[in-house]
Amino acid sequence: MRYIETKDQSAELLRLTLPLMSRQTAAYHPISYTIWYEHLAGINPSLSTALAARVEANEPLNDDEVYGLYMRHVSERDAAVLDDLQMRLQNLLDDTAQTFNSAGEDTGHFSRTLRESRSDLGEEVTVAKIQQVISRLLSEALRMETMTQILTEKLEGRTQEVKALTQQLQRAQTEAVIDPLCGIHNRRGFLREAKTVLDTESGLAGSAVVLADVDHFKQINDTFGHVLGDKVLRRIAGIFRDSIKGRDIAARIGGEEFALLLPQTTLEGARIVAEQIRSTIERGRICRDQSREIIGSITVSLGVAAGAPGETLETLMFRADQALYAAKRTGRNQVCVESPETHRLSGGEAHLELPTARLGEGNPAI
Ligand code: GH3
Ligand code: MG
Ligand code: MG
Repeated sequence: MRYIETKDQSAELLRLTLPLMSRQTAAYHPISYTIWYEHLAGINPSLSTALAARVEANEPLNDDEVYGLYMRHVSERDAAVLDDLQMRLQNLLDDTAQTFNSAGEDTGHFSRTLRESRSDLGEEVTVAKIQQVISRLLSEALRMETMTQILTEKLEGRTQEVKALTQQLQRAQTEAVIDPLCGIHNRRGFLREAKTVLDTESGLAGSAVVLADVDHFKQINDTFGHVLGDKVLRRIAGIFRDSIKGRDIAARIGGEEFALLLPQTTLEGARIVAEQIRSTIERGRICRDQSREIIGSITVSLGVAAGAPGETLETLMFRADQALYAAKRTGRNQVCVESPETHRLSGGEAHLELPTARLGEGNPAI
């Protein structure tokens, strides 16, 4: 989504947004600013309807509600833009094909005229007949010239449109699969990339999934603010990105939740990767800007599971999530590997609901 408001218009929106934001319990972070900005700019009707109800009821919005509104009315709107672009490109191609079909009919008519004229000239010819043939050919040639000109102009126009649409489509496709806060895949991108692994002959057999969740992240936000919270997320995303190679996939699949899909990796191999990530993050420190005084640290909990022949990503992630849950429950800041029990469970009716990605904008990494 590209914002088209001028500097003056956006300055006015900024002035109007702040008092509205101050009435909420949610912090002044970019996610919160985005929803109030889009509401006041009048560019997101469904969001405005949802917000109007809350404003009328005089109920302040908390952080989770703000993230929920952002998810439903901003992130998903951006995904709908992608579908719309795809449709427009398809229509354009259909229309162009139609133009070519009618051009084909005209060309057919022209070659028929040529054939008829030739056979007319094969018979006994008179001056009148020659004149008749010439005038018919002349008018057909003129018609063809006009038609070719129209076709060329139409095609030039179409080429420009296709170019512009392709660029928009590429941009929208990137935006829809990349998390703008951290620059790695979002949940949608993760699922899309994972499909390429699933579609191979061995599927998910021999692959492993690592799921991670930042420990007590709410406290980090509450203690140091959302801006620092966002920087922490970016740094963690960087650690995930640096820990992969080849066809591995790293993604931020939820607010403070990350995932790795490691093709051709054993359970033990994935556990080692997860443990390296855990210990790298544990060694990080939150320092005061000037004095460099250490004021905090961050830990993550991780769950690891390995794929079985013929299994779906959903069941594999369910098992990794169970392992992550075990890591949380038994003390946090640790890696837990799936147990035979969770493996057995996921064979049944178990169903995994992945948390949806919460996207945001932010400042450079710490
Ligand atoms: P636990 O150890 O059990 O995982 O505790 P937690 O505090 O990490 O878990 P909880 O689910 O209670 O809180 C997650 C917090 O993450 C709440 C939400 O405000 C914050 N969060 C989600 N997305 C973002 C984001 O993009 N930026 C920032 N700064 N915070 C976010
Ligand atoms: Mg979480
Ligand atoms: Mg957490």
